[in-house]
Amino acid sequence: MRIEAGATTDVGRVREGNEDSFLAADPLYAVADGMGGHRGGEVASRLALETLDALFRRSRGTLADQIREANLAVFERSVLDRKVAGMGTTLTAAAIEQDRLRLVHVGDSRAYLLRGEALRRLTEDHTLVHEMVERGEITQREAEVHPHRSVLTRALGTEPDVAVDEHAVELRDGDRLLLCTDGLTGMLPDERIREILTEEADPQGAADRLVAEANGEGGIDNITAMVLDVRASASTGPRLDTETLEGEPAAGLRPREPRRRWGRALAWVAGVTLAAVLALTGIRLYLDAQWYVGVSGGHVSVFRGIPVKVIGLRLHSVVEVTEVPARDALALAHFGELPEGIPAESREGAEDIVDQIRADLAAIQEIGNLGDGGTP
Ligand code: MG
Repeated sequence: MRIEAGATTDVGRVREGNEDSFLAADPLYAVADGMGGHRGGEVASRLALETLDALFRRSRGTLADQIREANLAVFERSVLDRKVAGMGTTLTAAAIEQDRLRLVHVGDSRAYLLRGEALRRLTEDHTLVHEMVERGEITQREAEVHPHRSVLTRALGTEPDVAVDEHAVELRDGDRLLLCTDGLTGMLPDERIREILTEEADPQGAADRLVAEANGEGGIDNITAMVLDVRASASTGPRLDTETLEGEPAAGLRPREPRRRWGRALAWVAGVTLAAVLALTGIRLYLDAQWYVGVSGGHVSVFRGIPVKVIGLRLHSVVEVTEVPARDALALAHFGELPEGIPAESREGAEDIVDQIRADLAAIQEIGNLGDGGTP
């Protein structure tokens, strides 16, 4: 089989930056929806796809292994660089091998298969509301409009390890695949998506129309749509078509560039230099300016210093113990590294993290109440 691809990503009508990324490097296609505020989301989605792309090209392990390595790459970056601490991303990737589709998936981006006029969802959302639907606590329709529908139970890069969903689908000539982020599915019901995919023959045209309609419905999130048309190979001989496509993005697509290697090298040099200067000008001063959120006495707490002990010597002190039980916060997808300490830029930054934990817990509480008490 060969693939004709079309893809569009758009910032939407409300967000300031686009934290979605996509990868179109035949035979590997993927979308990723980053999260983690400001820079974090953009870095997470791009880094995940760059890592996956590089590992896939070197044929290192299975596709699921490659996703787990990408997870570790994002996690390690978030630990090393406090500007992107706590970042994460969804990732839905499709690799086409002859007439077989291999799909790997983490988060709430989605893959769909249009065969004939029937649209089938191939992935399951890793969200709290999806779990509520599975347990019969709310309906699918309620989940689709739920104010907290984007609270994830699984994301890439928030923990050192991640569970990856894997699927395999036998492809037929004429099949059409859609990979998309929740900025599309949050705006358009599946039936509307099916209609557009059925009506618009050109894959790029279909991707553009999906994004335009999602914007028309409000565009409250970044929107990414990738449409992949499966065609029987023209030749029955050696798979020359695949050979020639290998390594080149399909026409009209924007590959993720290996950007700013020099910038990165400089950032590392600057980081190492900064560390040396700090050591010289006094570790105490440095420690006094460091903040993180961790656990003290079983509660989420704000610390000054860094979360390590050197030969029994503590390099931190507790500044505030909150009322939030650490056990509750650990259940949230983004705060699993709490026991190791989540770095913050300042005391205010640390308070912001605590506020975020409170807000997420309140959101879960609210969902729980809805589930217990019927529907509003
Ligand atoms: Mg999104």
